[in-house]
Formats: sequence, C-alpha cells, structure tokens
Amino acid sequence: MIKGFSCTKCQKVYGPDYKSFTCESCGDVGILDVLYDYKAIGNHFTKLSLSKDKRLNLFRYLPLLPIKDDFIDKALQVGYTPLYRSNNIHNEIDVQKLYIKDDGLNPTASLKDRASVIAVLKCLEAKKDTICCSSTGNAASSLAGNAARMGLKTVIFVPKRAPIGKLTQLQVYGANVLSVNGDYSATYDMSKYAIDQYGYYNRNAAINPYLIEGKKTVALEIAEQLDFNMPDWVSISVGDGCTIGGVYKGFYDLLQLGFIKHIPKLLGVQAAGCSPLYKAFHNKTMPVPEEELTLADSISVGIPRNPIKALEAVRKSKGTYVEVTDEEILSSIALLGRTEGVFSEPASAASLAGVIEARKLGHISPDETVVIINTGNGLKDPANGRKAVGELTLIEPTTESVDDILNK
Ligand SMILES: *Cc1c(COP(=O)(O)O)cnc(C)c1O
Ligand SMILES: [Zn+2]
Repeated sequence: MIKGFSCTKCQKVYGPDYKSFTCESCGDVGILDVLYDYKAIGNHFTKLSLSKDKRLNLFRYLPLLPIKDDFIDKALQVGYTPLYRSNNIHNEIDVQKLYIKDDGLNPTASLKDRASVIAVLKCLEAKKDTICCSSTGNAASSLAGNAARMGLKTVIFVPKRAPIGKLTQLQVYGANVLSVNGDYSATYDMSKYAIDQYGYYNRNAAINPYLIEGKKTVALEIAEQLDFNMPDWVSISVGDGCTIGGVYKGFYDLLQLGFIKHIPKLLGVQAAGCSPLYKAFHNKTMPVPEEELTLADSISVGIPRNPIKALEAVRKSKGTYVEVTDEEILSSIALLGRTEGVFSEPASAASLAGVIEARKLGHISPDETVVIINTGNGLKDPANGRKAVGELTLIEPTTESVDDILNK
C-alpha cells in the first residue's frame, strides 16, 4: 500500500518498486522515507474502522504499514502496550498530567519489537532466510526473538559492553551472536560488511526505511489511546534517532488523515556522556562523532545513523533536545519504579529524566500534558538497576533484627 520513497537528503522520489534501501545518488547518507497515498488510505481506514478492529497489536494499523498481510497471523504480538495516566509521579516532578507508554511490555521487552516484527515480515517477503543487524542490545534481542518465531536465522553483531539481560535473550532465541571487541560504531561496520558479503537481509534501522514505519506505531497507539486528543509533549530518548523519527512519522500520518489536529512537541533526550544530536540540534549543525560514555547503553551512540530524521522530527514538531547525566537517569529509574510500578532500563528512564530537565529549563510548563515512552524494561539491565537503588541490608534470622528494621 505504499506510494514510493523519498530521499531525506536530496528529496529525490522513487516508485514503490525501488529495491535499494538508500538513495542511489546520496549513498548511505541518503536514508529513504516511505510515502503513502493518504487519500486512498483514508477512504477505508477511519477512526470508526479502527475502533472496530479487534487486533490488539500493531497490525491494527496495517493500512499505514509497508507490509503485506501474508504472515502477520504467525508473528509475535507486538504493540498495543498500555498507556497509563500517572497516579503519583506528577506530584513529584510538577507536571500535572503525565502519561507513561509502557513499551517495556512488548514480547522481547522493548520498543524495538515494533521494528523487528516488520523486519522479519519484509525478510520473508524478500524470500531470504537470514537477517543480520548490529545493535547496542535491544534491536538485536528483539530481532532474534521475532525471527525465531518466524523460523528465520539471525546473525547479530553486538558491542562487548551490551548488558547481560540482552545478551542472554539473544542466546536463548538461538541467534548466531558475534560479540565485537569495540564500540557500537565498530559493531555497525562489521555488520555492514557481513550484509554485503553474505547477502543477509539488513535490519539496521537507520538504513532500512521500513523499520521506522514499525516504530511509528507507538505514536499511532498513543494518539488512539488518548482518543486523538494530543498531548503537548512526547518525551523520547534518542540514540540513532530512528525511534524519534518514527514517533514523528506516526503523528504526521495521523495529521494527513485528519485524525489529529496537531503534532505534539517532541522532547529528544540524550545522555550527557554521549549527546551528538543534542549538540547538533542546538548548534544547528550535523552531529560530530563522539565517544560513548554513558551507562544508558541503548542510547550510547557516538555516530547516530539517522541524524536527518532525528533532527527534523524535533524541529518540525517545535520541540527541543535536552541532555541528562547518568546520575539523573539512575534516579529516574528509582523514581518511576517507586511511584508507578514501572521498571525501566537506563535509556528508557532517560525520557523521564529529560522531562524533569525540561521542566527545570522552563521548556515544559506545569499545566502541559506530557507522555513519556518507556522504551525498554528494566529487567534487561539489572546491574544498572541495582546502581539506582543500592545494596540490600542482610539481617540475622532473629525477631530482634526484624524489629530493628521495621521500627526504624
Ligand atoms: C533503541 C533504543 C532507544 C533509542 O532509539 P534510537 O532509534 O536508537 O534513537 C531508546 N531506548 C531504548 C530502550 C532503546 O532500545
Ligand atoms: Zn538522495
């Protein structure tokens, strides 16, 4: 159901049968955007048709997805994660109306499932049997799980620093894992080599234009779950920039279809230890490569692969970028857990830390409605979760020691 592609760099337009993932004139930096015929889609895809769709997964948005429906019944159930109105946390951070979109509840426990389920379906359509990606962790574990479900093989490149939860998922899902003794950029280069050399299907989210289309479904759901009354802000942590690009695309689609009246301001959040897009946004330049010095592994991306979409999404939405320290990220893990019962991994908690920062800087005012996206479950990275809350105290098995603690 797609109309074609346009190059995000030179704006050249390609037809729907164009096979390459990037623009033939611009090469790897010419990332493509998928184009839809909104008029044709709007003829049968309406708020009413959507409200009658019984599928509680992202396939309820099939008319806005670049896939055929041949294999969707066999796929893992991705999406339609809960959107919670906060019970407690808004009082602590002085934002009256806060919602939490808990994408940690996807099948492999991160938002990346939205892209991976599209990747495995496109791989089947392309009649290939092996998918390859490089990832800081979640894209990999997500791809491995979604591919396993569809009987596809995976070759996965991860940097050696990837947390144990994610690495274990990879192995349990039966992936062929290559742990690279280097940073994420080196890992990315190795996967690019393997894809070219062995002809694997490419799930690198920046390059493959279809994956952002999967990620955009988080925005479609937020809108639908809020009955198409848009919040003022949506806060998203940013690494490569595909997620925030996808969030923008989802709202853009709904605006074209007339389902919503405006696109919320997007708050892009980066970790201060690695914030090339934050700096590029405020300096009005392209990102300059940086070292990867943050414990938020999922957004520790020194060379963001999707800079144009990541910067444009925030600019066009009239939002902004902020950066947060690792200490602020850790305290946000504890705060979100303690106040709302939602456990987040560091990159995911950054979206909350970013809201706190944006309140301090005056970007967000207390009466504005804010949605934070919990992009990954905290069980993926228990070691950093421990850092957020400290060690347990061990007691002797005596009633006195119980009383000592409980009477404190
Ligand atoms: C991948 C990821 C992000 C950032 O997404 P990008 O597309 O790399 O910008 C944020 N949080 C989590 C948990 C992720 O896995
Ligand atoms: Zn181009």
